[in-house]
Amino acid sequence: CLHTMLHIQNTIAENFMEKNEVLTKENIVEPMRDIRRALLEADVSLPVVRRFVQAVTDQAVGVGLIRGVRPDQQLVKIVHDELVKLMGGEVCELVFSKSGPTVILLAGLQGVGKTTVCAKLANYLKKQGKSCMLVAGDVYRPAAIDQLSILGKQVDVPVYTAGTDVKPSEIAKQGLADAKKKKMDVVIVDTAGRLQIDKTMMDELKEVKQALNPTEVLLVVDAMTGQEAAALVTTFNLEIGITGAILTKLDGDSRGGAALSVKEVSGKPIKLVGRGERIEDLEPFYPDRMAGRILGMGDVLSFVEKAQEVMQQEDAEELQKKIMSAKFDFNDFLKQTRAVAKMGSVSRVIGMIPGMGKATPAQIREAEKNLKVMEAMIEAMTPEEREKPELLAESPVRRKRVAQDSGKTEQQVSQLVAQLFQMRVRMKNLMGVMQGGSIPTLSN
Ligand code: GDP
Repeated sequence: CLHTMLHIQNTIAENFMEKNEVLTKENIVEPMRDIRRALLEADVSLPVVRRFVQAVTDQAVGVGLIRGVRPDQQLVKIVHDELVKLMGGEVCELVFSKSGPTVILLAGLQGVGKTTVCAKLANYLKKQGKSCMLVAGDVYRPAAIDQLSILGKQVDVPVYTAGTDVKPSEIAKQGLADAKKKKMDVVIVDTAGRLQIDKTMMDELKEVKQALNPTEVLLVVDAMTGQEAAALVTTFNLEIGITGAILTKLDGDSRGGAALSVKEVSGKPIKLVGRGERIEDLEPFYPDRMAGRILGMGDVLSFVEKAQEVMQQEDAEELQKKIMSAKFDFNDFLKQTRAVAKMGSVSRVIGMIPGMGKATPAQIREAEKNLKVMEAMIEAMTPEEREKPELLAESPVRRKRVAQDSGKTEQQVSQLVAQLFQMRVRMKNLMGVMQGGSIPTLSN
């Protein structure tokens, strides 16, 4: 029971910092429609949009509104944060093998920029001090082998070629053996693409993958692919199993909806993005920048973020003032007690107690009864006593009167008064404010 009381105290203290206005099913219907439209305009595939909107709706309902921010604005912020999370949250680095060369296998349709990526990636890794070798595995287009050789020269890395008469898996094996001999850190293998997915391409990729046992299998996706990216990524991932993706041509007009589909349908992160035709135009994938681009509501976002900062500051100051001047009184206590009861937080409070798990109905009834007892005693106080709890702390006569008027015992009233002072200290600790305020001992 003491445990429960402590947690109720904590929740009341935390609640004191919360605002009551919240996002509701009703006030997010309209803005959610706009967000849905924005996602579709950014070329996110429809099933992905559907799942996403549903998940965010469930999550947004009940979230407290930041002061000065409209529900639609706050929703944009929530959606943005969810997009960031969905795309992996943070930059996802390439994985490197601990023994022997790291093998990176590149796959993708024709024209997506795969060959260019080989050279960009070699250049990118060289800058990190890693030695790289390229392997020309596209045996169908002699031009592709020439292109890779030229690019290899440009970035000054060796290119392993074996003409067009050798099987790609064989070339891959030979290339890897050569790289091992030369003690290369990384081997990047280019493969043949087709205009569309076909069985021959997939079978060949499977064979190459088996021959290499690569550290990374990266699917190169053209950002302009838009909605089709979802199906493409699904198929490649199911057929050959990818470890991530590289999104190219982000310098174009596309809002980049493909980025969202990649992670959503495959669970695999985008690791790098191509932003132009030059060798240097390759960089890590930043989920937050991408989320901003997909939503295209940058101004709303920065507004909400600013409001959030201001509010946190104001709230902290307001609360700090109250705490510093020891103003948290029985009126605040009553208001917060009622808020806790109303919000159905009682079961949540009990659920948070370590080792107690889900609250049983009996425990909830017990806690609710406790809150009712407190309420009755506070109601029996005079306005003056509510504002100045010290009066009660100092006067046994007053405590006796409150006890009689509320039908509780004097001991219960003493407990309540002591609790208020404990809460002041507790809140002070919550805020990290360390000066002043002590728990007075009740005089008899
Ligand atoms: P592959 O068939 O997948 O090997 O594609 P390529 O590497 O040959 O690239 C196809 C075309 O896309 C070339 O003209 C590249 O210059 C161009 N390209 C590749 N990556 C990018 C990029 O990030 N941005 C832009 N604008 N063009 C790119």
